[in-house]
Amino acid sequence: MTRHTVSVAKINYALLVIRYFAGCRTLEASSDVCDICGEPGAHHVCKRCGRRVCDLDYDENTGLCRICLETNCEICGKYPAIGYCMVCGRIGCEECLVQISMVAYICKECMRKGMYSLDRE
Ligand SMILES: [Zn+2]
Ligand SMILES: [Zn+2]
Ligand SMILES: [Zn+2]
Ligand SMILES: [Zn+2]
Repeated sequence: MTRHTVSVAKINYALLVIRYFAGCRTLEASSDVCDICGEPGAHHVCKRCGRRVCDLDYDENTGLCRICLETNCEICGKYPAIGYCMVCGRIGCEECLVQISMVAYICKECMRKGMYSLDRE
């Protein structure tokens, strides 16, 4: 019966891994520990990634955790950033940036100000 026990354990482990990758929600049992710093007292849930975070790692204004805030669009503040404007240097999202080459973006604001113009009709 040992073989049987081993395979059950393996299945349980696999399920745990699947659950972990499916939503990183295995920590839910140890509820009030901050997902970022590991300190107890996570009273907030990030509205983008769903992490449970403490006061220090949460931004009241945006409802985002520190990690999401760092990668948030600096222009509209609504979406995750995909790159940065090569003129003003701000990071921006798909909505706020216009791709001008394989690797370069420019924000719509700089575009409007005429800081850069596409060589297209
Ligand atoms: Zn924290
Ligand atoms: Zn987050
Ligand atoms: Zn944006
Ligand atoms: Zn710009």
